[in-house]
Amino acid sequence: MRDVSRLYVEDFPTLDEQDLKIMLNQAWWVLGNAELNRTGTNPPRFAATIPPGLEVEICLQSTPAHFGGVRWWYTCPYCSSRCGRLYLHEYDIGCRKCLNLHYRCQSIERIERDRNKIKKMRHAIWGETEPEINNLLMTTSAFKRPKGMHRNRFLNMLYKLEELEGDHFAALLPVLKARHRGERMKYKPGE
Ligand SMILES: [Zn+2]
Repeated sequence: MRDVSRLYVEDFPTLDEQDLKIMLNQAWWVLGNAELNRTGTNPPRFAATIPPGLEVEICLQSTPAHFGGVRWWYTCPYCSSRCGRLYLHEYDIGCRKCLNLHYRCQSIERIERDRNKIKKMRHAIWGETEPEINNLLMTTSAFKRPKGMHRNRFLNMLYKLEELEGDHFAALLPVLKARHRGERMKYKPGE
């Protein structure tokens, strides 16, 4: 049964990728009724003032991008994790987890869970040796057996992983199709 007290991300003002680009180049920005004023440049950080008077510091951070340059992220003011999005919920700004927000679309929630599971399993097999390990558009068959891993153990893990990836893509496909038709089913891989 659906919990009626649940809060859904779709209902709250969001700082997303587009806002991030603007914030890198501007000293001032808004999110709902909150005002963001730049307080530093290295790393870029903002003081978010949320009526009636709470102030939260929002730092931006970067990681090296695959093909050179950097990718920018928000830092959640509560758990300090790197996020592609932050949300404004009543009197607070934070990541989805810290604000205890859910996705309205259950299949999206499941996709998100599967993605994390797949990445964890891939890391357990290949560690950091494969640069494309987090690229879920590349199937597992593109990666070789790691040196020193017993063949049977590798095949066993690979079998489980392939099964999970198959399920993941089966669940992802209708969402991508809906997006293609322009329906309001927000999902961005890699978020
Ligand atoms: Zn957080």
